[in-house]
This record gives sequence, structure tokens and C-alpha cells, in this order.
Amino acid sequence: MYASREDLINLIALSKADRVALAAQKKLDELPQRAQILAARKKRASILEKQQSVAEMRKSAEQEFAKISDEDAMLADKQSAVQATINSVHGDFRSVEAHTKELNGLQKRRSALDTQLEQVDARLEKIKAVEAQIETILSQIQVEEDAAVESFRAEGGELKAKVASAQASAAQYASTLPDELVKLYQKTAKKCAGVALGVLEGNKCSVCRSSIDESHLIDLKASRPLGVCPSCKRLLITDPPIER
Ligand SMILES: [Zn+2]
Repeated sequence: MYASREDLINLIALSKADRVALAAQKKLDELPQRAQILAARKKRASILEKQQSVAEMRKSAEQEFAKISDEDAMLADKQSAVQATINSVHGDFRSVEAHTKELNGLQKRRSALDTQLEQVDARLEKIKAVEAQIETILSQIQVEEDAAVESFRAEGGELKAKVASAQASAAQYASTLPDELVKLYQKTAKKCAGVALGVLEGNKCSVCRSSIDESHLIDLKASRPLGVCPSCKRLLITDPPIER
């Protein structure tokens, strides 16, 4: 197809700028910090879930502790009341005996509660230790994530600027080309992973490196200075503009 020497020069510059933008974008996408940040966030989410379930365990242990303590306090009051009764019924042997028996029963129950209280308390201590571990892990994750974010901002910022400036020059070159040629170039770029332009080198396409057979070469030469690679379908410059 027809293209002026000026068009070819701008087309090559456009293609170069696009490739620079593409390479910088690829580097940006592949920055290891991105994966590190995602991994840290995933880890945090799972630790927070664990923290939630430990908090529930703690709540239930605390409720149990309170319930046992309440019963124990109630029994202590009862003990005092029974003791007071015993103190007031001098001489009534049967009554004293019955109340003493009740007192023993209360004491027995309180001893059992004491054992339970110790067990719940030990459980609470373990839960607190796990909570402290979780806090430590969470702050470690935060440190890792902060470092990755900071390094991503520095490295990623440079690459983003490179992408933006290459895209700006690509747009600049595109604006100098005939609309139809730009449209064809962009359509080809979309189909060819961003690389839309090659140069015929001998009988080979400079991008896909396929050898082009004689009959296709004749077609290509007929469409000079700009044709289409029969193999990869990229635009192919058959007559590169000679530098003046
Ligand atoms: Zn090709």
C-alpha cells in the first residue's frame, strides 16, 4: 500500500514507542512486589480470621469464668447465712447437725467450683498467649507489606512514568499519520500482542522471522513500500526509508 517516506519514518517511530511502553508495562506487571503485597494481604486475612475465632474462644471462657465466680459468690453468701443460723441455734443438736451437713455440701460444691475456675483460668492464659502471638505475626506482616509497598511505589513509579511518556510519544507520532494507516496499525497491534510493524529483511519478516516464499515476495514487492507479512499478518515495510 502507499505510504510516503515521512509516513514510514513516523510509523517506525510509533512502533518503537509502543514497544517501549509495552516492555515497561510488562516489567511493571511483573514486579515481584506486586505478588509480595498480595501474599501479605492474603496472609493477614487468614490471621484475622484466626484472631476472630480466638476472640470468640476468649469470650466464651470469660463468660464461663464469670458464671462460676457468680455461683461461688452465691454459695459463699449461703455459707455465711447457714453459719449464722448454726451460731444462733445453740443446743438444738439436730438442727446444728442438719445445718452442718448443708455447710459441708456447700463447701464441697465450692471446692469443685474452685477446680473448674482454675481450669478455665489456665485456658484463658493459653488463649492470651495465642492472642499475643497473633499480634506479633500481624505486625510482622505489616512490616513486610509496608516494605513491599514502598519499594513498589519507587520502582513502579519509574516504570509508570516510562509507560506514560512512551504512550505520549506514540500518540504524537500517530497524529502525524493518515487516519487510515493509524487505524490499520492499531487494528494490527490489537491482533498481534501490541507489535504491529515489521521490516522485510531479505526474505524474512523481522518480527516473526518466517521466510517468505517467492510468490508472496512478489505480492509484497508489488504492494511496496508497505505490505502485510503472510505469516504473522503484521504490517511489513518492504522498502525502509533511507536515512538522509
Ligand atoms: Zn511476520
